[in-house]
Amino acid sequence: MSRVAILGAGMAGLGAAYRARELGIAAVVYEKLDRPGGHTRSFAVDSGFVFDDGPHISFTRNERIQKLFAEAVNGEYEVLQASVNNHWRGHWIKHPAQCNLHGLPADLVAAVLRDFVHAQGRETEGIRDYETWLRAAYGDTFAETFPMEYGAKYHTLPAAGMGTDWLGPRLYRPELEEVLDGALSPATPDVHYVSHFRYPTRGGFESYLRPFVDQAKLELGREVVAIDPQAKRIVFAGGDEVGYERLVSSIPLPELIPRIAGTPDDVAAAAARLACTTCVLVNLGVDRADLSEHHWTYFYDRDFTVTRASFPHMFSPHNAPEGMGSIQAEVYFSARYRPLDQRPEELIEPVIGDFRRSGILRETDRVVFREARVVPFANVIFDHDRAPALDVVHGYLDDVGINYAGRYGLWGYQWTDESFVSGEEAIG
Ligand SMILES: Cc1cc2nc3c(=O)[nH]c(=O)nc-3n(C[C@H](O)[C@H](O)[C@H](O)COP(=O)(O)OP(=O)(O)OC[C@H]3O[C@@H](n4cnc5c(N)ncnc54)[C@H](O)[C@@H]3O)c2cc1C
Repeated sequence: MSRVAILGAGMAGLGAAYRARELGIAAVVYEKLDRPGGHTRSFAVDSGFVFDDGPHISFTRNERIQKLFAEAVNGEYEVLQASVNNHWRGHWIKHPAQCNLHGLPADLVAAVLRDFVHAQGRETEGIRDYETWLRAAYGDTFAETFPMEYGAKYHTLPAAGMGTDWLGPRLYRPELEEVLDGALSPATPDVHYVSHFRYPTRGGFESYLRPFVDQAKLELGREVVAIDPQAKRIVFAGGDEVGYERLVSSIPLPELIPRIAGTPDDVAAAAARLACTTCVLVNLGVDRADLSEHHWTYFYDRDFTVTRASFPHMFSPHNAPEGMGSIQAEVYFSARYRPLDQRPEELIEPVIGDFRRSGILRETDRVVFREARVVPFANVIFDHDRAPALDVVHGYLDDVGINYAGRYGLWGYQWTDESFVSGEEAIG
């Protein structure tokens, strides 16, 4: 019997364990993998490169979490000023594109400006679908050329199929003057919502978790296969069982709900309607370090396989052997909207081709390491089913006394710090 059973040893589960320890509550974390960390795991490969499970940087404004993470790595972290750009049809555009149209074809710039001016004063408050919101916020030409194209790659569905409850600061709303300045001048202020970020000097992003892992009572290789909320018992793969007084789960909801004994059909159906992207990461090691001046790049082009590329060797010099560089490409799929129906390895060559075509890789560059890695649950898809389905699922979990936390328990857009805090809050 553990007083509190915590399911999953990612940021949320370890945040819950941290809080329980602070309060003197006995808690055990059960993790199905043989390694803790969840999405914040880092992988050091033989050739000396370090890749995270998707590009991870810490840009939290929560000062308590900043301090906790800094202490976790004994103050050994890099502080970097974020530099971000975009690729569109052979053009490199500073981010965000709406404020940096300088250098794009004159007819496109003219059409964007005309539509942007027409869109001035349009009300976006209360708009419930993403496409309508984009057209109202930026005008038709910009909406269709940039965010609708990128969104279809990143979210795997057309903008009309998505809601607007995830936007937050993600899409910058410039004043007309900023758009005009950016169309006329190559030098514009930085307005990305991530201005600076931190990254552990050694060991990849995962290093932030070390003390929380060390302090937690953790059982690895413990896949939860069934939960009986009446009897307050958990069953693991292999048949072992434990009881609990309180349960906090960070397991993705579509996997949690089918494991709960006696779940009503409508709740099971609602959980099945929650959609999420799957990300294939193509990790490359290259025999040259000056691959890019930017930490990450968004690729708008439909004929490019890569959606976003980041350069882990720029996050910390210890992420690659001296003189070498690394690229992490993200390619997105989803069971509902764009199923992954090929072997992940088949994406490696097309992605390398993208980098050669765009000029990031030169003909003379040697790719000394390559791999494809699948992240089954990546980004929650904010389609129109999400909110009503989530109400049903969370309502049921509340009824049966199962607390939920983390990105895939809350089923939102939580960053690492928010996932950690949600775990703490689930303990109380
Ligand atoms: C591509 C990508 C890039 C991102 N970039 C950033 C970034 O730059 N900065 C940032 O702050 N955040 C970033 N995030 C978000 C961040 O990864 C999450 O907020 C955070 O890692 C989620 O932690 P979690 O504990 O909620 O979930 P997870 O990390 O998924 O942890 C859940 C754990 O539950 C375990 N589990 C699942 N099923 C079972 C079972 N049946 N039994 C037992 N255990 C189980 C899993 O193995 C896993 O360890 C990114 C996410 C993605 C996908």
